[in-house]
Amino acid sequence: MKATIAALAGDGVGQEIVPEAVTVLKAVGRTFGHTFDFIEALVGGQAIDKTGVPLPPDTLALAKQSDAVMLGAVGGPKWEGLDYSIRPERALLGLREQLGLYANLRPAKLYSMLADASTLKREVVEGIDILVVRELTGGIYFGKPKGIEKIPGGERGFNTEVYTTEEIRRIAIVAFEAARKRRKKVMSVDKANVLESSELWRRVVIDVHKQYPDIELSHIYVDNCAMQLVRNPKQFDVMVTTNMFGDILSDEAAMLTGSIGMLPSASIGTKTGMYEPIHGSAPDIAGKNIANPIATIASAAMMLSYAFKLDKEAEAIERAIVATLEQGYRTKDIHTPGMTLVGTREMGAAILKNLKG
Ligand code: NAD
Repeated sequence: MKATIAALAGDGVGQEIVPEAVTVLKAVGRTFGHTFDFIEALVGGQAIDKTGVPLPPDTLALAKQSDAVMLGAVGGPKWEGLDYSIRPERALLGLREQLGLYANLRPAKLYSMLADASTLKREVVEGIDILVVRELTGGIYFGKPKGIEKIPGGERGFNTEVYTTEEIRRIAIVAFEAARKRRKKVMSVDKANVLESSELWRRVVIDVHKQYPDIELSHIYVDNCAMQLVRNPKQFDVMVTTNMFGDILSDEAAMLTGSIGMLPSASIGTKTGMYEPIHGSAPDIAGKNIANPIATIASAAMMLSYAFKLDKEAEAIERAIVATLEQGYRTKDIHTPGMTLVGTREMGAAILKNLKG
């Protein structure tokens, strides 16, 4: 097959990890007989510096025309003083909104050889395999009214948590469909004891579940879910939740696996999908050849599977990652005594070497 991929490296470590993923994808192309064409474009702080806006029209047009978008990360201290409306992070919201990316899929799977890099005990985390399905274009991050207004004696800041039946229905479908390919369990996370939007969320999820009698559905309040994730994470298979709850819980799930540098994500919707590591631009380690490229390379595997239905090719990347970890290669974030400490480029090269058809 032939595909055009928009490569938006962005800021900080994005500049180091995206090239590693691109190299691996090109090798997959050569090994399996596909042509992947990469077109680079500016996004985030880089785009602000050169064009004044975080998501230039050319970048958006490219993303829309491409078959998939590979994103690194955006943001950094340099742009923190800017108004919210033109901060680097606005590019992410813009891409999600414009590409109709309403579902964010974040697998949190523990590679058993990394169990000792987790802050939790091996027996708690070994074997965890969770898929967090986060609603991405609704909820409190987009709800209106929002703002900061003057009131007597100070100011008042406000946001609105809002969900429609249709928004809940389509994300629930993504979760149930994903569960069918896994252990057939969906846990819906809400705060239905306090929030009306959650009350509707729960009602709609229960309604959609009627089409999926083969899937076991349960419900959990978000505060209990946060607790259960560190107490007994193995109980979770697919977790489906709102934009803000998913933002927080998926980072918590990420930490169980040892490092945020290991975890990929796919954002899918009605048009082109976007594939990116779950971490940010990591300004504290940027430009030092320290960042772990595995999250981004694993995101490339998700791209092959979700955007192009190339499951065999995606599995080849996953096997190469496992083989590399089994050989003892570790970037700093996952390094434990006795293992071989390598940099970003060396980790990318080792994965490339382990890629087999
Ligand atoms: P972060 O994810 O960038 O970093 C958190 C910690 O994890 C840091 O200690 C960092 O060194 C480490 N880390 C992250 N990625 C790593 C990797 N690949 N290998 C090894 N260690 C890694 O989060 P932050 O520090 O809160 O945010 C930094 C900037 O990134 C901010 O401007 C923030 O807004 C932005 N951000 C962007 C995205 C995105 O582009 N999707 C997501 C989150 C944060």
